[in-house]
Amino acid sequence: MKRLFALILCISAIALSSCVGDGAEPYYVYGSAMDTNVSICLYGGDKELGNACLELLYGMESELSVTVTGSKLYALNSGQTVKDTGHFFTLCGLASELRTLTGGAYNPCIYPLVKLWGFTADKCSVPNDEDIATGIELAKNSQISFTDEGIKIEGGGQADFGGIAKGYASDVLRDYLKSNGVEAAVVSLGGNIVTVGKKPDGSDWKIGINSPKGGGSLLGTLSVGECAVVTSGSYFRNFTEDGKLYHHIIDPETGMPADNGLVSVTVVADDAALADGLSTAFFVMGMEKALSIAQSLDVQTVFVTENQIFVSGGLKEKFTPDGTVEGEYEIIYN
Ligand code: ADP
Ligand code: MG
Repeated sequence: MKRLFALILCISAIALSSCVGDGAEPYYVYGSAMDTNVSICLYGGDKELGNACLELLYGMESELSVTVTGSKLYALNSGQTVKDTGHFFTLCGLASELRTLTGGAYNPCIYPLVKLWGFTADKCSVPNDEDIATGIELAKNSQISFTDEGIKIEGGGQADFGGIAKGYASDVLRDYLKSNGVEAAVVSLGGNIVTVGKKPDGSDWKIGINSPKGGGSLLGTLSVGECAVVTSGSYFRNFTEDGKLYHHIIDPETGMPADNGLVSVTVVADDAALADGLSTAFFVMGMEKALSIAQSLDVQTVFVTENQIFVSGGLKEKFTPDGTVEGEYEIIYN
């Protein structure tokens, strides 16, 4: 069973197969947190360190989850002023900066809309126009504010860190592993991958980009050193109503799932929190606007539509398309 789980993760949670068979045996840790599968591939780590990583993750989840009663986010969303100087404080700051950086395409105060669509409760349906209009106004007019008394939400809205928390948590795990002497590792939280160093033999990691068509197939692999590779897509966390697909990345301006021809966006950056927030925002704003922000921040991207894969210049030598994409996708380097 453990072997089967390992195999599935290697295929679907993005090319952790690169962790296998490179001389020194890696140690794997598996778990489930932040509504996704977690896998950690450690070279030079052991069970104790692996379990400490999971504990760290569960601790962050209990602070940052929008649904866990008693989380700091839950208190914030209940109208309380929250005193904090730890992860919650840092994440609130990062989320607010990302909102400004992306012109509001990433908006942490999106929770009234996310709730309406039912994604956090797994009870999805298309909301009515009036409720959507109210949700849009709440998201637009609310903000996280930092006062001497603590952090609070102004404007009556509610926050949701689903678009950034997994990336942030991956960064925290990477720092923790490095401070414990680990020089080579891959942390995977669903579509959020961060690497530590290079493979022990000095070669790059091979990180797969999942095919939106599913079935565990890949669009291709990226050869990278230490970095974060984060993907947002419409092909998971979605539902179909009256023959139309609705997914979980919401355009704050329309209150509807973003609909601009993209099926997935991958961002490669130094930090996973940034890559995570940007992948969500880029999915909302569409490729043209996204590319100008990506270039100004010097982050690399892969945009995928129904039949095209756009790979940014900095990844040209690093992206290897999977054999199966030929004929199905046109690959464009931009
Ligand atoms: P995933 O969480 O599946 O990895 P993303 O990182 O793209 O995917 O984040 C999508 C999640 O972020 C949604 O499930 C929702 O909780 C939240 N979200 C949706 N739209 C936005 C948005 N425009 N800005 C900020 N957060 C969003
Ligand atoms: Mg994201």
